[in-house]
Parts: sequence; C-alpha cells; structure tokens
Amino acid sequence: MSFSTEKKAIKAGDIIMRQCEPGHAAYIIESGRVEIVLEQSGGKVQSVGTRGPGAIIGEMAIVDNAPRTATVRAIEDCELLEITAEDFARRLAAADPVLRMTTQVILTRYRDMLTRADISRDSLNWPPPETLELDYAQGTDVVQNIKIANEFKDVLGTEEISLHYQPIIDLQTGGIGGFEALMRWQHPEKGFISPGIFIPIIEESGMIVLASRWALRESCLALKRIENRAGRRDGSLFMSVNFSSHDFASEDFVDAVYTTISETDVDPKQVHLEITERLLIHQPDNAKETLEMCRKAGMGISIDDFGTGYSSLSYLHYFPIDTLKIDQSFIRDMLKNDASLELVKSIISLGKNMKMKVIAEGVEHKEEGLMLRELGCDMAQGYYFARPCAEKAVIDLVSSWNPEEKM
Ligand code: C2E
Ligand code: CA
Ligand code: CA
Repeated sequence: MSFSTEKKAIKAGDIIMRQCEPGHAAYIIESGRVEIVLEQSGGKVQSVGTRGPGAIIGEMAIVDNAPRTATVRAIEDCELLEITAEDFARRLAAADPVLRMTTQVILTRYRDMLTRADISRDSLNWPPPETLELDYAQGTDVVQNIKIANEFKDVLGTEEISLHYQPIIDLQTGGIGGFEALMRWQHPEKGFISPGIFIPIIEESGMIVLASRWALRESCLALKRIENRAGRRDGSLFMSVNFSSHDFASEDFVDAVYTTISETDVDPKQVHLEITERLLIHQPDNAKETLEMCRKAGMGISIDDFGTGYSSLSYLHYFPIDTLKIDQSFIRDMLKNDASLELVKSIISLGKNMKMKVIAEGVEHKEEGLMLRELGCDMAQGYYFARPCAEKAVIDLVSSWNPEEKM
C-alpha cells in the first residue's frame, strides 16, 4: 500500500469511529477484528457484520468529508493503518481530473445507496446526494472542460475550426521559407477561443489525436494550394505542424502521418513535426522510434519552445532532431537583458555545432531580426514579419513578398 500511513493500536471493546461524528481518516485493518454497527432512527442498533485483516473501514468520509455512517468497534485487539483525509486529498488532487470527478461521484452515489438502505438521512443531517454532486461539479473546471472537449469534437471538420499559417522567414535571403500551422476556433457564442485555452483541454480529453491528424491533412492540402496559386511549385516551402505527446502515444501515428503525406502529395521533406522537450522526456522509448521513422522518411523534426523545458541537453543527441525553435520569451528580452541575449547566442551556436537549423520565435521588431541575422540564426517567425493568417491572405503574402522590405 503506497499511502503514507500511521499505525494505531486499538484495544478490544474500544470504539474506532462513531456514527454521525466527523471522520478525518480511513483505516486498513492489519490485525484483529472489528464490528460495524448502525444506529437507526428509533434508537435501534443493528450489526451489519465484522471485518478482519486487509479490510478498509471509514473510507467514505475521507472522500467527501461527510459524517460517519456507522459505528465501528474493535471486537479483538487491533492494529490499524491510518490514511488521513489530507493524504487522500493530495493524491486525488494529483490525479487526472476526469478520474477525480468520477471517483467522487461514484463514491457519493455509493454512500447514498448505503445510507438509504440503512439509516435515515435526517439522523445524519446530511444534504441529498444531488446537492453533493452539484457542489462538487460546480467547484471545479472539470465539467466546463468536458463540455468544451465535447463541443470541439462536434465542430472539428466544420468551419468553426480552421488553421492559420504564420510565415517563417529565411534570415539570409529575407524570403519566406515555410509556415507554422496554428489552430483557430471561432465559437458562435463564445467568440474566438485561444488555442492556449482549448489545446490543453483537448489534449487532456484525448481529442488532440483527431485534431492533429485533421491539422496535418488540412495544412498539407493548403501547402499544395499555396504553392500552386502563389507560383512556388519548386517544393522549397515547408509546413510545420504541432504535435503533442498524445499523438505519439497512438500506435498508428507513423502510418497515419505517412498516409496523409502520400495522399496529399506533398514531399515528406516539406513537412516539419513540432514537438516540445517535455514530450521527449516523458516518452523517450516510444518517441525515439517514431521520430526516427519520420526522419528517415525525410520529415523535419523541430523542438518547439526550446530553452524553456528540460535542463539536460543530452537528449539532443539521442533523438533525430534537425531544428531548434528558440522560445519567444528569450527573443522578447534579448535586447533588454544580457542573460537572454547570451542564451540566444548559446542556442544558435549549439545549433551550429550540432548541424541543426535554428528558428527564432516571436520576433516583433526589426532590430531583433537584424540582431538574429548577425548572430547567424537561420530563420525567424513573428509579428514583425507576419501574423498568422488565413490561407487566402497567405497566398497574397507569398505572391507579393519582397525579401528586401523587412530586412
Ligand atoms: P506555439 O506552438 O509556440 O505557437 C506560437 C505562438 O506564438 C502562436 O500562438 C503564435 O500566434 C504566437 N506568435 C507568433 N509570433 C508572435 C509574436 O511576434 N509575438 C507574440 N507575442 N506571439 C507570437 P497561438 O496561435 O495562440 O498558439 C498558442 C499555442 O497553442 C501554440 O504555441 C501551440 O502550443 C498551441 N497550438 C496552436 N495550434 C496547435 C495545433 O494545431 N496543435 C497543437 N498540438 N498545438 C497547437
Ligand atoms: Ca509551435
Ligand atoms: Ca513555440
């Protein structure tokens, strides 16, 4: 048992917990035997049985802090392991939110069933179960998040969900090298919902897997149209797509990616997978194999938000990475803060030493772009060059782009 427990010795005949009193702990019986007794409304007392080693008693109170529904008395000398409500609450808080809510609701219903069967609610002065569930649900974001995830599932594939494309600029030539695909949700009532809000929710619900596959297909199709309409059919533009750890956990990830790339007729070299350091750290075995297959097929692998995640750099050798994207927080501070500038310089030379390309994210001012070019950074992306925009605007942008204008 992994709970942090404390041992308690109880003498035969002693009361361990009393019906209707508040309960702050549950107990696992290590040795000895207890009897569970219910006191009914007319003062009648009824034994509901005995429990011995291995049984757990008083578990309900630590879940919902309700009073004890029965009295428990030692009928032999007992040794009990105590699980405190605090310890349980801490563990529950660390659990997946859906698991947390479901556990709570199941136990509340179970308690109600027992209570209805055995004793009158009035004697416990306890609210009806519906109130309990509602109180719990309203006190958390869980229900709201489940609603958002469900809604997202219904609207993925409709025009409510779209992709915007942000140009990534080659700092040496000033030309557009490629794009990052960024998801957008225009909700009919709530308005624009930021991906910073809905992406973590659909990641948690697992919906991200469908969303990423949709995004890859859409962005590959868009890349073909951009190439055709803007007259850039030489295969030199790339499309960078964000993926999360859930995508990598799905068994057919590589198959799905291959299929999409071949069906949409883009060259695998034109597709870059953007992943975070966190993903690599949490799923190293699975990720290495998956990434190697993608890399062998010719796709690019970029580390997103580089510099914000893991302190050890050893994973850069281990995984087949070819691009580092410097997080925008360093670029934002680069000209005001020497430490950020040093970090940017270090990442650029790290990239050079490891034969990786380096992309700077969040470039908002010309001076930052010029400085990055001087430092030898390969590419840049940011509001200074262009904001993420819809496909039609991207086609116009590529068609009319003047490489000398911005740099
Ligand atoms: P990210 O992958 O780091 O994407 C870059 C974010 O920086 C985008 O925010 C982009 O609009 C914003 N940005 C670009 N240039 C600038 C700039 O100059 N200044 C500032 N302040 N911001 C800039 P966005 O579109 O709101 O996306 C937020 C995050 O949501 C993304 O961060 C990414 O983690 C996630 N996301 C968006 N679309 C997808 C998707 O299709 N799949 C997955 N898995 N995640 C996505
Ligand atoms: Ca990204
Ligand atoms: Ca980023």
